[in-house]
Amino acid sequence: MIIVLKPKITKRQETSVLREIKRLGYEPHVMRGVARVVIGAIGDERDKPSLEALTTWAQVESVTPVQKKFKLVSREAHPKNSTVSVGRHVIGGKKFHVMAGPCSVENEKQLMETAVAVKKAGATILRGGAFKPRSSPYDFQGLGKAGLKLLAKARKETGMPIITELLAEGHTDMVAEYADILQIGTRNSQNFKLLIAAAKTGKPVLLKRGMSMLIKEWLLAGEYILSNENPNLLFCERGIRTFENYTRNTLDLSAVTAIKQESHCPVVVDPSQGCGRASLVTDLCKGAAAIGADALLIEVHPNPAEALSDNAQQITLDNFKKLMREIRPFIKAADRS
Ligand code: PEP
Ligand code: MN
Repeated sequence: MIIVLKPKITKRQETSVLREIKRLGYEPHVMRGVARVVIGAIGDERDKPSLEALTTWAQVESVTPVQKKFKLVSREAHPKNSTVSVGRHVIGGKKFHVMAGPCSVENEKQLMETAVAVKKAGATILRGGAFKPRSSPYDFQGLGKAGLKLLAKARKETGMPIITELLAEGHTDMVAEYADILQIGTRNSQNFKLLIAAAKTGKPVLLKRGMSMLIKEWLLAGEYILSNENPNLLFCERGIRTFENYTRNTLDLSAVTAIKQESHCPVVVDPSQGCGRASLVTDLCKGAAAIGADALLIEVHPNPAEALSDNAQQITLDNFKKLMREIRPFIKAADRS
């Protein structure tokens, strides 16, 4: 911690700050400038009481932590990239992965048709929401358990592992029984009880970025997974709220690089929620692959116009096939296969 004292304080006021720093277990190092005194408090902030309370002291101008609060997700803790295994697939390694499927599981025909087509085009993991977080209570809420059963059937028929959203803590056992990856949605990204419950299943967790979440908050949310003994964390950038409303969200590709620098965990990009427009999805996938994302999460539907959720952003089976062809050079450019 760096503690800056106010100018023109008495010697006594300075000494009392030094005494408090020592009392809390830190070693104070005084740097005496022309106008003011700066104290470096040496000691690991993670196993001692915080010095932040000093900000309330009259003689203290500021208290700035130098250590990051996220420990397990940080590259300092694990300099090499970590990987997450899903069935026989490894995310975060040399191979680039594409998770694809409908926004919502709607019926058997829609899901099977999509699953078979995305697999044929090269997707490795099947997505599909059984429990949907909808802004309106009158909109389609998902098929629930019946949707999970259809996903399991699609996995059996295609061999693809499945990713589906864990919407509520009370569903944890049920969803974990079917899913290979638990998706935590943007609206739940700081639902810490849910994050802990998801972590405790031991299943890989894909943590969407909250729509108004700072990168630091996202890293801390990820810390909830790793600190609950689950190393299988995937960060997923899915766009943030900005002033722009041409797109549904603003896909923040800079966050991919930022997370890659700060953390060892794999990063997935969801361009579908990221822009909300089917016509933009392919190009955003190219950008995400080129910038070093480890995987994509793409919404695909046999007939987007009739989709029960997110119809403007889902791409057709044909366009998905085309997308998979077109992104190849970008995957190669990022030294992936
Ligand atoms: C989704 O993937 O369909 C979804 C609801 O995502 P998000 O939580 O990012 O909105
Ligand atoms: Mn969706």
